[in-house]
Amino acid sequence: MRLLSKVFQPLITIPKNAKIKSTEVTCKSQKLLLECGLIRPTSSGLFAILPLAQRAMDKLETHIRKHIEAAGAQRISLPSLTSAWLWDNKHIEAAGAQRISLPSLTAASLWDKSGRLQEMGPELMKATDRHGKQYVLAPTHEEAITDLLADVGPLSYKQLPLILYQISSKFRDEHRPKHGLLRARQFTMMDAYSHHATEECVRNTYERMSQAYRDIFEGLGLKVYRVEAPSGAMGGSLSHEWQAVAEAGEDSLTVCQRCQHVGLEAKCQRCGGEGEVVSSIEVGHTFVLNTRYSSPLGACYTDAQGARPALRAACYGVGGSRLLAACVEAGGAWPRGVAPYSALLVPPKEGSKEWQQLGWSSVEQVYSQLSVLPTLRDDVIVDDRCDMTIGKRLMQANRMGYPYTVVMGKAALESPPRYELVCGSSTQLLTMPELLKTIDTMDQGNNNMAAEIVTA
Ligand SMILES: [Zn+2]
Repeated sequence: MRLLSKVFQPLITIPKNAKIKSTEVTCKSQKLLLECGLIRPTSSGLFAILPLAQRAMDKLETHIRKHIEAAGAQRISLPSLTSAWLWDNKHIEAAGAQRISLPSLTAASLWDKSGRLQEMGPELMKATDRHGKQYVLAPTHEEAITDLLADVGPLSYKQLPLILYQISSKFRDEHRPKHGLLRARQFTMMDAYSHHATEECVRNTYERMSQAYRDIFEGLGLKVYRVEAPSGAMGGSLSHEWQAVAEAGEDSLTVCQRCQHVGLEAKCQRCGGEGEVVSSIEVGHTFVLNTRYSSPLGACYTDAQGARPALRAACYGVGGSRLLAACVEAGGAWPRGVAPYSALLVPPKEGSKEWQQLGWSSVEQVYSQLSVLPTLRDDVIVDDRCDMTIGKRLMQANRMGYPYTVVMGKAALESPPRYELVCGSSTQLLTMPELLKTIDTMDQGNNNMAAEIVTA
């Protein structure tokens, strides 16, 4: 159940003609959005979009996409995946997280305060405005989120834990970008930040978010291990890398041959046994930060006695573009809920006997019969390059990895007509009712990635 009391919505009253944090409130909508706790300025002309405004923006996006795509537009992202995202946000929100958006530009002074301006130095993309103020094109937002919580004033202990997340473009000045989306200079990331009063609460939420991660990866059919890792430049007391097993991965895991413990080191940390090395892709990273950022940046909460201790924090990241790459690297068909289209319909070759007898109207008919399944609605595409043989189109379909391919071959002339259903390495010849039932049954077995995710 969603409770308004738990929504992160810092209300403020703006006195007439007042200025807040280098931002002049000049119009009605801005005043309203600020006063109602929907947005919050971070620097001049930069705003954090808070959970309620973010929900409205998500809905706007869905609405706009629906109509634009109905008009025939196809979505892309330049110069890399910006907000094309792999799953809907139900697992993260089930763990209690509320979505926000922070500006890509974070004041360099905050990174200086946390000490990371020096620590991460050359990896940071930097920008300077016309007044000489310096910014970081953020690779991650610990500083920005902590400053936001410091700025809204102390939260009450009753509002904790507070979990905020965003999905946005991040930037890193990689020395040598490589492996396509795996190591790019701009990439998509889901980053979440939880804030707490007690260490016990940090640990509980950390485990709850870890479970959300497992649900996300399981839903994609990926084999992902959570392995203990050094905290590096992020700081904090505990961290885990989430490694997806993939041949092309540039990271590696060792699986202990004696006790099956999975780690990053060659020798098993648990029993000292030898490990088998497996290639992997880091698709996520989680950190217990405690007061690493809240102390230097002054983010605190009010406890039951009225004291103001520093907030304890943890953070969680999943790389979107990396996850997409890992799904593709895993080979075979796309995970059911991520496939660009769930089903491909292959009509007969132009000029063939089937083509002449069936005609285009029967292609349209099969298309609408398939669309009857809720899991396929708006998610079937026809390979109408009918000058190509069925075999050639099937070869390309196989490479593309559609979860289901339906072929109108010779048996489509029978009465009742039968169609080939190609699913991975299996091919079945089925009547339309049988075919729909088969797909429906397979989709039911296909845990949590329903078509609603694709069309959302
Ligand atoms: Zn072992």
